[in-house]
Amino acid sequence: MSTPDCLFCRIVAGEIPATVVRETPTTLAFRDIDPKAPVHVLIVPKEHYADVATLAAGDPALAGEVLATAAAVAEDEGLLGDGFRLMFNTGAYGGQEVFHVHAHLLGGAPLGPMLARSVA
Ligand code: 5GP
Ligand code: ZN
Repeated sequence: MSTPDCLFCRIVAGEIPATVVRETPTTLAFRDIDPKAPVHVLIVPKEHYADVATLAAGDPALAGEVLATAAAVAEDEGLLGDGFRLMFNTGAYGGQEVFHVHAHLLGGAPLGPMLARSVA
C-alpha cells in the first residue's frame, strides 16, 4: 500500500533517487538529504504509515523490523562502540515534516544534549 503524493513512498518506489544503505523485504534505509551528523540515515517501512504511533498500533511486527534494520545499519556504519541516537519525530510538537514514519539514526560524533534547549 503506497500513497502517491508521499515523498518516502516515492523513494521506496524508486521514483525519487536516494542513497540506499540497506534494504529488506519490508524496510528501506537511506541517507538523509540534509545530514545533521556524520551518519544520518532514515529507516522506513515500505508500507505507508503516517507516524510511529500508527505503525506500532497497526503492525507491531513491522515496527520491530524497522528497529532491527536501524540496528543493522548502526552496526554497518560502525556506531555500536561509541553509540548513536535513534528517534522518531512525531506530529507538530515533535517537528515531523514527512508524514511517512521514519526513524532517524544519528551518530559518528558526540551528539550533544537530547534537545537543543530545555522546554521543561
Ligand atoms: P522529520 O522532520 O519529518 O522527522 O524528518 C524528515 C527528514 O527527511 C529531514 O531530516 C529531511 O532532511 C529529510 N528529507 C526531506 N526530503 C528528503 C529527500 O528528498 N530525500 C532524503 N533522502 N531525505 C529527505
Ligand atoms: Zn508514504
